[in-house]
Amino acid sequence: MSNGPTHQLTAAVIVGAVCIHAERDKQNKSARPIVGAVLAAKFTKLPDILEPAVHPNHRQFFHSVAFASLLGIAGYKIYKWSPDNPFDEAIRFALMVAIGAYGIHLLLDASTPKSLPLIGAF
Ligand SMILES: [Zn+2]
Repeated sequence: MSNGPTHQLTAAVIVGAVCIHAERDKQNKSARPIVGAVLAAKFTKLPDILEPAVHPNHRQFFHSVAFASLLGIAGYKIYKWSPDNPFDEAIRFALMVAIGAYGIHLLLDASTPKSLPLIGAF
């Protein structure tokens, strides 16, 4: 059963590990793995902020396979974006972390007996 702390720990570990992997060949290491892990622990709570777990059927559109697909498309577009200044690069990093953390939340919820709705209600 995944709860809030499980979501946060899982998102922080996975996003932190991905950030470490992304910097493996860089000469100058940055704080991105730590920043990414902290941001992921915060952003992974977003689905349950949008649709709080106040009853057993709280998972609707923002917990759905359809919304996960939209996030995947957005994530691909952001991944392909090549920012030309440090501010835009920071925005790109934050968006990638947010989408990753949100997706991790949905994957953990999908592994429960209630799983995720295909579309859900709005
Ligand atoms: Zn949830």
